[in-house]
Amino acid sequence: NTFQDLGLNDDLLHAITDLGFTEPSEVQQKAIPILLNSETDLVALAQTGTGKTAAFGFPMLHKINIDSRTTQGLILSPTRELCLQITNEMKLYGKYCKGLNVVAVYGGSSITDQAREIKRGAQIIVATPGRMKDMINRKLVDISKIEYAVLDEADEMLNMGFYEDINDILSYTPVDKCTWLFSATMPKEVSVIAKKFMENPQEITV
Ligand code: AMP
Repeated sequence: NTFQDLGLNDDLLHAITDLGFTEPSEVQQKAIPILLNSETDLVALAQTGTGKTAAFGFPMLHKINIDSRTTQGLILSPTRELCLQITNEMKLYGKYCKGLNVVAVYGGSSITDQAREIKRGAQIIVATPGRMKDMINRKLVDISKIEYAVLDEADEMLNMGFYEDINDILSYTPVDKCTWLFSATMPKEVSVIAKKFMENPQEITV
């Protein structure tokens, strides 16, 4: 039960050593092999504090092409705090991925600055739904080449009334991308979006 066994690349393993992670958490043990070894949709029932950010973050960092500046990964999260936290974690996990640019997009901060960062080339965008929608409307971001979309804390996003925004945002992404949904609870609303946006998702519970 090591990160080496899971098949992550050396740049990621190097960062994992620096972070002092000795072994993968349960959600990581379950999700990482699935996400690394197949191009699949995933529904994961997992609480915060279980290491779920790394469970989707490592596979995304492993799979994207860092030599390209195209935006390939999109992570949607309910709040500015969570958005910044995920961005931070992704930067730590990807610290040895040379040329990696992870950009946070959230409300209450300059949209021009965020747009400028994206224009420099962001392989991964971590966003709250409202500001993301705003950026798309203003044509400040192109997510038409996204390969991996994460809906983090999907139950919270729906509780906060982001259904329409998520729906609109995903309509600008390719149909053949992989969608990875993480949620602490699985109310009917979450099953509805899972059905609507995903195709035969693999399911894990921790
Ligand atoms: P999360 O559930 O993603 O919010 O992660 C909770 C905390 O656990 C974060 O501070 C992570 O850096 C940390 N963490 C994630 N995976 C591991 C691991 N395998 N070993 C030790 N700590 C971890």
